[in-house]
Amino acid sequence: MTTKTNTATAEQHESMFDAVLARLDVAAKIYGLSDDVANILRNPQKQVKVSIPVMMDNGKLEVFEGFRTIHSTILGPSKGGIRYAMDVNDDEVKALSAWMSFKCAVANLPYGGGKGGIKCDPRKMSVGELERLTKAYTTAMADVFGPTKDIPAPDMGTSGREMAWLVDAYNKVHRGNFPGVTTGKPVGLGGSLGRDAATGRGVMVSTLAALKKMNLEAKNVTAAVQGFGNVGSHTARLLNEQGIKICAIGDHTATFWNEKGIDIKAALEFVKTSGGVLKGFTGGVEIKSNELLTSKVDVLVPAALQNVITEEVAHGIQAKLIVEGANGPTTAEADHILQEKGIIVVPDILANGGGVTVSYFEWVQNNYGYYWSEEEVNTKHDASMESAFEHVWNNGQKYKTTMRIGAYITALQKIELGIKAKGNY
Ligand code: NAD
Repeated sequence: MTTKTNTATAEQHESMFDAVLARLDVAAKIYGLSDDVANILRNPQKQVKVSIPVMMDNGKLEVFEGFRTIHSTILGPSKGGIRYAMDVNDDEVKALSAWMSFKCAVANLPYGGGKGGIKCDPRKMSVGELERLTKAYTTAMADVFGPTKDIPAPDMGTSGREMAWLVDAYNKVHRGNFPGVTTGKPVGLGGSLGRDAATGRGVMVSTLAALKKMNLEAKNVTAAVQGFGNVGSHTARLLNEQGIKICAIGDHTATFWNEKGIDIKAALEFVKTSGGVLKGFTGGVEIKSNELLTSKVDVLVPAALQNVITEEVAHGIQAKLIVEGANGPTTAEADHILQEKGIIVVPDILANGGGVTVSYFEWVQNNYGYYWSEEEVNTKHDASMESAFEHVWNNGQKYKTTMRIGAYITALQKIELGIKAKGNY
C-alpha cells in the first residue's frame, strides 16, 4: 500500500483540509485505524483544475478557475456537489470532497466522495453567462464526471438549473442520455421528488432523534437557524412543522429575532418576493448575524457557511444542541469548548446527509428508469437517517467520545472494510 503521507497533525489546522485531518487523526487514534488506511484517506485520490474561458455579455472574454477533487472511490463512484463562490479554492474543495467520503459512508451509501467548484460570483452573472460557464466547465470535466465514475450535485450557488445544463453538456459530449451523471436535477428532467427539501428534512430527523436522547419534546423547544437558502429555509419550515419554535433566522442580508417565534410561512412567502433574501422582513427585530449563534435557544442550526462557530463564538453559545446543516460550520478548536460545555453536536457528516441520501435515490431511479412517489422517497429517507443517527450515537457511546468523532469512526469502519476487501495493489 502507498506510504505517501500528508504530515498535518491535530495541532495544525490553518486550512479546511487540515481541519478534516485533525478530526480524522483523533477518530483514527480512538478507533485504532491502521496507518496504511489512514494514509490513503489523508490524500485525495485525484485533483483536477481547469481554466474555463467564457464570453461575457459585454463581449469580453473572462477565464474562470474550475476545480474537481475526487477524495475516494473505495465504496463506489465519487459523489459531491459543485459550488459557485468567489472563495472556492483547492483546499476548500479538497476538504469538502473528504467530508463527502465520510458522509456517504455514514449514510451507508455505495459512494465515495468528491467535490467541485468554480471561483465566480453567480449573483453578479447573467443567466446566459452562468449557462455558458456551467456547460464549458462540464465539457472540461467530461472525462472526470460519469454516472458510474463521479456524480456531481448542487451546492452553494448552484441548483437544479445548473444540473440540467450539466446533463445537457455531458449528453452532447458523450452522445447519449445519461441522467445519472448528476443528481439534484429538476423533477421534469429525471430529478427525484423530495430532493429539494431533503437536506433540511435530514436536519429535522437528526434534531428529533437527538431531542429524544436528551428527553426533550419538540413542542417545548426553541431554535435558531442561520442561513435561509436551500438547507436553512427547509430546516426552519420542517422543524416548525414539528412544533419547534423558531426564534431566530438570518441570511447574508439580515438576521431576525422574535421571542414569540418567527412566522416561518410568512418568511418563506417574503423571500419569494424579495429576490430570495430576508432583508426587509418585518417578522422580528433585526439583530447582528453573530448574535443568532449565541442567542438564548435550545437548538442551534448553522445552515449557511463554514467556520462560523469559532472558539470565541463557542464560549458564548447558549444552545444545548447544535445540528450542523452547513458543511464545516465548527472549527476543530471550537469542538473542544463545546465538548467541555456539554453541548451535543450532531455533526455535518451525519446531520446534512439527507441531501446525498435522496441524491442516491434519484440516481437509483435514473438507473431503473422508474420513479417513486414523494411519500416513498421521504419514508426511505427518514428510515435511513434514523438508522445512521443510531449507528453514530452508539459509536459515540461505545468509544466514549463526541458524536462527531463517533461519526468519523462509523465512516472509518465502513471504508476500512472496503479497502481491506479489495486487497493490496
Ligand atoms: P444556499 O446558497 O441555498 O444558501 C446559503 C444561505 O446562506 C443563504 O441564505 C445565504 O444568504 C446564507 N449566507 C451566506 N452568507 C451568510 C452570512 N455571512 N451570514 C448568514 N447567512 C449567510 O446554500 P445551501 O445549499 O443552503 O447550503 C448551505 C450549507 O449547507 C453549505 O455549507 C452547503 O455546503 C451545505 N449543504 C448543502 C446541501 C444541499 O443539499 N443544498 C447538502 C449538504 C450540505
